[in-house]
Amino acid sequence: MDIQVSQDEQWRFKMDTTLLPEKLITAIIVYEDRHFFLHHGVDIMALLRASELNIKNKRIVSGGSTVTMQVARMYYNNSKRTYLQKIKEIGMAWYLEFIMSKDDILKLYLENAPFGGNVVGIEAASWRYFARSPHTLSWAESALLAIMPNNPANINLQKNRILLKKNRNKLLKQLYQLHIMDKEMYEMSIEEEIPDSPKPFPHEAPHLLQYLIKKYPSHHIFHSTINEHFQRQAYLLLQRYQHENYINHIRNAGIMIVEVRTGNVLTYIGNYKMKGNISDAFDVNTIESKRSGGSILKPFLYAAMLEYGELLPNMLIPDVPIQIGNYAPKNFNRGYDGAVRAHAALSRSLNVPAVKMLQWFGIQRFMDFLKNMGFTTINQSQDYYGLSLILGGCEVKLSELMQAYTNMAWLLCEPPSASHFSLHYLKHQNDSLNINMPLNKGSAWLTLNAMIEVERPSNERYWFLFNTKKKIAWKTGTSFGFRDAWAIGISADYVVGVWLGNATGEGSAELTGINKAAPLLFDIFSFLPEKNKWFNMPYTDLQVVKTCQQSGYPASPLCTDITNEIVCKVPIKQHTCPYHKYIFLDNTMKYRVNSDCEAVQNMVRKIYFILPPTMEKYYCMHHSSYQTLPPFRNDCITTSIVSQTNMEVVYPQNYTNLVIPRNLDGSPSSILFEVSHRYSDVTIYWYLDGTFLGQTKQRHQLPINTNTGKHTLTLQDEFGETKTLEFNVLYAPPS
Ligand SMILES: [Zn+2]
Repeated sequence: MDIQVSQDEQWRFKMDTTLLPEKLITAIIVYEDRHFFLHHGVDIMALLRASELNIKNKRIVSGGSTVTMQVARMYYNNSKRTYLQKIKEIGMAWYLEFIMSKDDILKLYLENAPFGGNVVGIEAASWRYFARSPHTLSWAESALLAIMPNNPANINLQKNRILLKKNRNKLLKQLYQLHIMDKEMYEMSIEEEIPDSPKPFPHEAPHLLQYLIKKYPSHHIFHSTINEHFQRQAYLLLQRYQHENYINHIRNAGIMIVEVRTGNVLTYIGNYKMKGNISDAFDVNTIESKRSGGSILKPFLYAAMLEYGELLPNMLIPDVPIQIGNYAPKNFNRGYDGAVRAHAALSRSLNVPAVKMLQWFGIQRFMDFLKNMGFTTINQSQDYYGLSLILGGCEVKLSELMQAYTNMAWLLCEPPSASHFSLHYLKHQNDSLNINMPLNKGSAWLTLNAMIEVERPSNERYWFLFNTKKKIAWKTGTSFGFRDAWAIGISADYVVGVWLGNATGEGSAELTGINKAAPLLFDIFSFLPEKNKWFNMPYTDLQVVKTCQQSGYPASPLCTDITNEIVCKVPIKQHTCPYHKYIFLDNTMKYRVNSDCEAVQNMVRKIYFILPPTMEKYYCMHHSSYQTLPPFRNDCITTSIVSQTNMEVVYPQNYTNLVIPRNLDGSPSSILFEVSHRYSDVTIYWYLDGTFLGQTKQRHQLPINTNTGKHTLTLQDEFGETKTLEFNVLYAPPS
């Protein structure tokens, strides 16, 4: 429940007109206007009785006004009580009865009746005095509200306590005498105390209320889908972390919980208030704020590539140092594996494989895919984002992330609910989002399953805490500069989203998705009841293909271990395994040969699993079973090695701009160039712009110090294989 003051500074909110509170209506009619349903706006007998009373007392003690006349009086803004005014009100009352139904007149009364101070209308009054909706009030409570508008100036729960109770009990007695309530109820009701003081208005989802007012400006009452219990629990959890977050300079947060099957938003915490006088930008609704997403979009790239048949879950993706333009992505806090399986690259959130995958898939295509998933904030050009798009180079809103992840999970519900791809904030909401769902069940299922895998470095200190029995697909994200910490979790029942950071944009060294957002995410899951274990396998959208055990690519005739893999049921566009190759050896099986140095009948053909040089260099460090190629026999070296690529430049890549850093004294520093070679003890000769620079053996690294402008680097190994590389040098400005 959340309430906000209206523009005229009065606590006034529209009635829920679908159902009128029965006890309250009865109490009002008995107290104010017993013949309400019989007269045509004016009760002549009541008017005559009132005039008689007023003349006898020589002052106005009774107005004899019907409910309709009181509505007319509210229309004239409660002007002074004069005879002329009375006549105007009678005219207006007749007119209202002519154009409106009795129910509509009652509703107008309920919405506009004064309840003292700035409380207007029965809905506001009910919350103000009893902290409950008028539908839930007892007879005694309804009777107290019914007598209030008659003398709003005297509503003071402390000062006029006795008078209020006396008038209330008088009305309760009338209700009893009219057989509206029985004796037992009457006796209980007159014993009920009247409240001691007005209650503070509830304020549990202020950011949701603001959001809904903006979205539906003509609505005044919102029946939200919020689950009050979840909303409160999540808020309490947030407060539990507040001290720890505060000392780490993390002041703002957002939490959303959505029910998968219905799309209903069950929790909406746009921000939270810290205890104490801390300026915390509480007004900022972080759920609707555009923030850098870090790695939080990676699962969508994985899903998109599965959907288009361009990726299989076990395919090896290069994980080597790369540089694209000026951009050299690095894995978060770790080295390189040479090659990793696509699903593991996702669950370990490796940056280099993600960049490589985006390079294959295409930036514009991925942007279009995200737009189809409902993201509206990725609206710059593809050049603007570049490949950093996949590492948080774009801004996203928590609400749209929730929408997209909920859609992915919703696809897998059985039977799919009749609704649509839109989150529901309101009960009976029928808005649908105009998106073209770009995923099928197969890719959604495979993606969520990859997100369950728990392959995390052991030094991530919270990891062991997340060992929950519930099956949860999840992903964290940390933006550049530690400004945003994200965690999204998906179970078969709920999608939970957490964002932590500062509305001011300030970063904090402690602010990472895994350390800050994930613990909160799993705490939230621990209080959510579990109804379904996990999504059923969507057989109709999956197929089995034969893949190479080692590479994860569709199997080629050369692949030695072939396995059946479950993949998305789409045409597979990926080519067959490129890494299993025939290699020719001499009859000792120790040396490589070719037809120029060995008779064909003496050659032995053997299949090897061979990665490109740079991948191999890093892959070997992590896979001791990887078999490198045997060396060429001495008499075959010159003819054989040159025929294939054994040398690769690790850094820099061709045609890049290199910014040379400066030393402390302002002079330009040097850059370390690196080359990898398949055969470790081969010598490489380095030439810059045609001038010999030096030679390297085993470890092929050379610091290069040169002027600004374009340069050409030529590399030659001892067998004559050459590589040429062009680059442009810029100096960093003096600091
Ligand atoms: Zn293979």
